[in-house]
Amino acid sequence: MNRFACGMDCIYLDNNATTPLLPAVWEAMRPYFTDVFGNPASAHSAGRRARRALEDARETIAAHLGAEAEEVIFTSGATEANNLALLGLCGEPPGHLLASPIEHPSVAEPLRQLSASGFSFETLSVDAHGRVHASSLAERLRPATRLVAVMLANHETGTIQPIRALTETLAGRARFHCDATQAVGKIAVHFHDLGVDTLALSAHKFHGPKGIGALLLRRGVTLRPRTWGGHQQRGRRPGTEPVALAVGFACALDHACREMNARLAHVRRLRERFLAQLTAHAAPFVLNSPEDGLPHTINVSFPGVKADLLLMNLDLAGVACSTGSACSSGSLLPSPVLRAMGVADPLLHSAMRFSLSPLLTMEDIEEAARRIAAVVSRLRLQG
Ligand code: PMP
Repeated sequence: MNRFACGMDCIYLDNNATTPLLPAVWEAMRPYFTDVFGNPASAHSAGRRARRALEDARETIAAHLGAEAEEVIFTSGATEANNLALLGLCGEPPGHLLASPIEHPSVAEPLRQLSASGFSFETLSVDAHGRVHASSLAERLRPATRLVAVMLANHETGTIQPIRALTETLAGRARFHCDATQAVGKIAVHFHDLGVDTLALSAHKFHGPKGIGALLLRRGVTLRPRTWGGHQQRGRRPGTEPVALAVGFACALDHACREMNARLAHVRRLRERFLAQLTAHAAPFVLNSPEDGLPHTINVSFPGVKADLLLMNLDLAGVACSTGSACSSGSLLPSPVLRAMGVADPLLHSAMRFSLSPLLTMEDIEEAARRIAAVVSRLRLQG
């Protein structure tokens, strides 16, 4: 079922990079590219129809995420949402910033830019699964701390962070930003219950369109915009809103949330089968993902096999996967996420990420495991 995403004979196991659009989402979006094409800021009826669709989408998204509609700011995706939050919440230097060492580059890089412009920046200590414990936040917190950034679910390992415990420890002494891009649509996410000030998400991670995401901004929190020149979205992110994408975003989230329990149960079964097959045919391997993380993300090291070579050979064998986050996969550096978790060097260079989607069938996952085992065995023999 998932094979259409990369050709009939390719099994797509790179769903943390992006997911195929659900046909129902495409159908929901289509009229907003053609018939209902008005600018949502226009006062005439064509504009008002577009505006109604946009605001309905905003309301649907807010309702599924435990937020209010006016707390939803549409962006081009999670990279923009993370940048908007971090650069917009921190104020002027000097000040102290804290983040987990396993953040996505779209969080780590703006923090690096801020530290180059006069902020002091520290990472929080993590356990062997990259988890930040509340005690490590309490340890690093200073009176000068302005902002703390910890993601909800990690893109490379699936590690889930205890966000509620962290925001309780912070108790409002600094702003808290959460990148929930890999979690939304897969597990229940409730914005207000998490106690965060801002939360980033992206539609293309849960079978919605690419090019749209959102920043949730808690009511009453001041955010300095990054772009200027329009009154859209209350000036917090000006520019003509992409109505069709917003409709697709809401439709995909609606499907994901309504089907969440069934999808989760199916992905758990796929994961179990996949790992059982690898145990039988591709051992030895080391599972770098925690058992209690997102079941969609399976990070595995195959000792003795070079990850870049494995990736290329798996592509030829019809399995699409990744050696890390898509945004850093052009680099040959070992994953900073696994490094921060203390994964030893040889395992670091043989780590692969297989990321699942509920569209995969049991047959797909068994065939994928067979192909992976065959390639791993061949590469081991070649030494
Ligand atoms: N954060 C995380 C955790 C991600 O996995 C990604 C996508 N790789 C992003 C942010 C960036 O999302 P987008 O592609 O929407 O910019």
